[in-house]
Amino acid sequence: MGASASGLINRPILASIHTQAFQHNLNRVRELAPESKIWAVIKARAYGHCFDAALKGLTATDGFALLDIQDAVWLREHGWQGRILLLEGFFHENELDLAQELHCDLVVHCDAQLEWLEHYAEKGHSPFNLFLKMNTGMNRLGFKPSAYRTAFHRLHACGYRMHHMTHFANADQIGQQPTVDSQVELFNQTIDGLEGPTSLANSAAILWHRNTLGDWVRPGIMLYGASPTGLFSDIEHAHLQAVMQLHSEIIDIQELEKGDRIGYGGRYEAAEPMRVGIVACGYADGYPRHAKDGTPVWVGDAIGNGGAICPIVGRVSMDMLTVDLRNVPGAKIGSVVELWGDRVPVDVVAQSSDTIGYELLCAVAPRVPVAIK
Ligand SMILES: *Cc1c(COP(=O)(O)O)cnc(C)c1O
Repeated sequence: MGASASGLINRPILASIHTQAFQHNLNRVRELAPESKIWAVIKARAYGHCFDAALKGLTATDGFALLDIQDAVWLREHGWQGRILLLEGFFHENELDLAQELHCDLVVHCDAQLEWLEHYAEKGHSPFNLFLKMNTGMNRLGFKPSAYRTAFHRLHACGYRMHHMTHFANADQIGQQPTVDSQVELFNQTIDGLEGPTSLANSAAILWHRNTLGDWVRPGIMLYGASPTGLFSDIEHAHLQAVMQLHSEIIDIQELEKGDRIGYGGRYEAAEPMRVGIVACGYADGYPRHAKDGTPVWVGDAIGNGGAICPIVGRVSMDMLTVDLRNVPGAKIGSVVELWGDRVPVDVVAQSSDTIGYELLCAVAPRVPVAIK
């Protein structure tokens, strides 16, 4: 601790990314979807885990799915020769040459893209793999079923290699409209008789709707060891491993008297004399400012008695947070703290902050050094 991946000395905070956990989680996807190919979804800097770590840990994937063509450039420059899917396709026609050069597969979700691709084909360029996106009820991106077949035929006629794709609004919850079943039914009806591989399932569908797997699955959050629902209890038995361990250290200790208050706003009041540890991690590192009193943090015991979960007390500030050390009497300055990872699932921190693990992982700040292990 205290030394970043680059070997520089800095504050004790560190995000360790465990490539073995990536491999383990990818194998879990293979076990759950043995007949499908895998697009490992690495948008948002691999959900905050950094592209280097994802490339290293997920090399056994069939392809990487991401948003920004510059990230595809990065992958090619770093030796990735497998497939790459641009999840929102391209934003302007002038990206097509680069996409072609990089051998990217493209999602096509709107008429403008369709017209640009027709225009592109007229100029005699070699064809792309296209994932034509159907809006089966999420109402975000995609062609309505009524427009889908025409779009398909127009692109197919240009010589593009066609695939069918849709995205679920509620694969992580039961009973909410539109249901997975209703979306699958609409999808299957609409593509009836059209050739081409399919892609439907995100992590939640891979875990809980095995009738949706299709030819290509698109896991994101489960590769990182977090829960599609935001609740750790939902993946507790899914045999996934947390890929990111966010660690810091205690940098000061305060001895409080009964009635003393902690931090901005004095949100927490000591009910008895207690020791409070000051941890080098705050909302400018990506820790949620909305974390409530009681949010768990693991603190190591400097005298070697293991360590224990300790609750946050008082408001999280920009660079620090404060924990009740009564569970770890041996804690002292320099004791290791796990903000999330194996001992404290990121989803538990998220739940205590009214959000989901996805948001916390993506929000780990650039100032936090990363170590790839
Ligand atoms: C982000 C994304 C995924 C992955 O979703 P998870 O819930 O993280 O598994 C899959 N498909 C599309 C189109 C996405 O945008």
